[in-house]
Amino acid sequence: MSDPLRPNGPKIIAVANQKGGVGKTTTTINLGAALSERGLKVLVVDLDPQGNSSTGLGIEPDDREHTTYELLLDDVPLEEIILDTLTPGLKLVPATIDLSSADIELHANEKRSFLLHDALRQVGMDRYGFDYVLIDCPPSLNLLTVNAMVAAHSVLVPLQSEFFALEGLSQLMLTVREVRQSANPDLRIEGVLLTMHDSRNNLSRQVEDDARDNLGDLVFATVIPRNVRVSEAPSYAQSVLSYDTQSKGAAAYRALADELLRKNTKAAA
Ligand code: ADP
Ligand code: MG
Repeated sequence: MSDPLRPNGPKIIAVANQKGGVGKTTTTINLGAALSERGLKVLVVDLDPQGNSSTGLGIEPDDREHTTYELLLDDVPLEEIILDTLTPGLKLVPATIDLSSADIELHANEKRSFLLHDALRQVGMDRYGFDYVLIDCPPSLNLLTVNAMVAAHSVLVPLQSEFFALEGLSQLMLTVREVRQSANPDLRIEGVLLTMHDSRNNLSRQVEDDARDNLGDLVFATVIPRNVRVSEAPSYAQSVLSYDTQSKGAAAYRALADELLRKNTKAAA
């Protein structure tokens, strides 16, 4: 690998929270776009049977010939699975609803927790020269999410700035601890990201204060504001960075990418 900071290939980040609607998919797409805007090569792995990140990146169900399901459970070569998106530098392993049966099939497989780990380290992967792999997890702590955590170097946890936001976090952390003990001792928390934040709203500010009090440095300094452009972008098959490049949402995801890159440069130094 040409980058001495990541001699063993791409940095793999699982974007996970078992709650739905907290901004996992939005963060995967827009952080991915922001990193690729910085000239990095990014692979998004859609690990949610709902396939929202595939749709949001402009890949219609009919165009998803080969999917994450096959990446995990069949021997389809990578080059037949990985698709280009409209965002330069950003590629995708798409998902379809087929993936909803994978959880059961995974249980029957001897290597059940390691399938994504192995798939992302298979021969031929280095040919793409990815800098980052972002895994968009389903809203569950099922075997798919465990596969993501076993495959990943770190977990990025979006937290919606709403009441009960911190609830459920302890369970997520417990799963991270279990994965560390059983399969991936080096798994780290990349950071907790406050999403859909409204600084004029008392509750939003309270959630931020609670998160920073309880989790300290684990919380990204960057906060993603609630911004209608962010929610509109996927229906135009775009990231918010290209849909409305001047929007607050685009600026926030650029700031997140820069913070992530700073953290990772420091960590490797
Ligand atoms: P998850 O993948 O965790 O289920 P999504 O990323 O799909 O969550 O986000 C849930 C909903 O919230 C989507 O409709 C999305 O467009 C919207 N959303 C996410 N982030 C923002 C934001 N910063 N501002 C406005 N709407 C947002
Ligand atoms: Mg999602």
